[in-house]
Amino acid sequence: MKHIAVIPGDGIGQEVIAAGMDVLDAVSEISSFQFDPEEVPIGSDRYLRTGELLTDEDIALLKSKDAIYFGAIGDPRVAPGVLEQGILLRMRAVFDQYINLRPVTSWFPLVPLKREVPFDIHFLRENTEDFYMGAGGEFGPSHGDPAHIHIRRETYDLDVDLKASASNGDDFAFEIGFLSTRGIERFADYACRYAKARGDSKVTLVDKANVCTHVYGLQREIFKRKTAEYGLDLEFMFVDAMAMAMIVRPETFGTVAVPNLFGDILTDLGAQLQGGLGMGGSGNINPEGVSMFEPIHGSAPDIAGRGIANPIAAVLAAQMLLENQGFPEEGKLLHDAVRNALDTRQTTPDLGGSLSTSEVGRGIADYVRSTRR
Ligand code: ATP
Repeated sequence: MKHIAVIPGDGIGQEVIAAGMDVLDAVSEISSFQFDPEEVPIGSDRYLRTGELLTDEDIALLKSKDAIYFGAIGDPRVAPGVLEQGILLRMRAVFDQYINLRPVTSWFPLVPLKREVPFDIHFLRENTEDFYMGAGGEFGPSHGDPAHIHIRRETYDLDVDLKASASNGDDFAFEIGFLSTRGIERFADYACRYAKARGDSKVTLVDKANVCTHVYGLQREIFKRKTAEYGLDLEFMFVDAMAMAMIVRPETFGTVAVPNLFGDILTDLGAQLQGGLGMGGSGNINPEGVSMFEPIHGSAPDIAGRGIANPIAAVLAAQMLLENQGFPEEGKLLHDAVRNALDTRQTTPDLGGSLSTSEVGRGIADYVRSTRR
């Protein structure tokens, strides 16, 4: 019995997770995947009612679960950043979900490329370090001479003192990227294990080691050692070259490890390659803890409440949840069910169909049930 916390959240999160739950129910009817979902009302409605974002009780409850199935957070009634920082980023930090897994799969005919070659890239984005640690500040005449940076993580407490002073009267702003040996090692380990499990013979590491020589130089050294230990080939790609290669030869990539900032950008490019925001699932993974699976899109207030949101991204997130929880065949079944929905044009308007969110979910659930042996 898998204990799954379900956080539909805001906007279309509510609608697509309802459809995803229909599909997971169907999976549990025909397979050994049994689950015990518990809905947790984290999101903007509760915040506006009570002022609570992520409470200690929420964290204790979520920690007791096997995995989290998450919709989206975001609401025009709340100032930008409040929900994202207070809920999403906090959750990633509390649960130390250091891998962001984003598959980019060709779903013909949605792929906007001229060459119809199938591809299946699995991006593993490091989710806790690099240039996204909030390690920045300002100095110069308007600010005085700082600068002290303090970063607290599950794995370390980092204090940085900068002796900064601007002599020419300019003000400066800075943002620092950090990578730690421990952070890189666990990232590299996961990437190698992932490549092995997928049957890939190489790991591609994306960076900009010719410019950011310090952080990405260290990362290269550790990846060299780890891939050698696992008997895997290692391919280096500069991020600019990678952006081009994803368009002209996406089929040449399998497991791709990418640091936080570049991963944010490349996976959005990937989302478009696979047919748009409604087609992408993602996992925030702590291999030793509680992982969270969600569609890559947000709450989409412009279409919320109209029943037209594409639930396929949420279904693909459910597929990743199943695979992560040790149910690869059931995961494959959801992949096939999505393929069937596309082939039979049982889709929402964004993909040219005329069905509602719940109808698409029901169609996918029916396909799952039809495979009962
Ligand atoms: P948030 O601030 O919560 O991230 P957002 O609206 O700024 O929300 P997204 O939800 O990521 O950003 O999506 C951008 C746009 O893409 C939406 O406004 C919507 O029109 C479209 N979109 C996103 N997800 C879907 C979906 N599942 N089905 C159909 N259209 C979608």
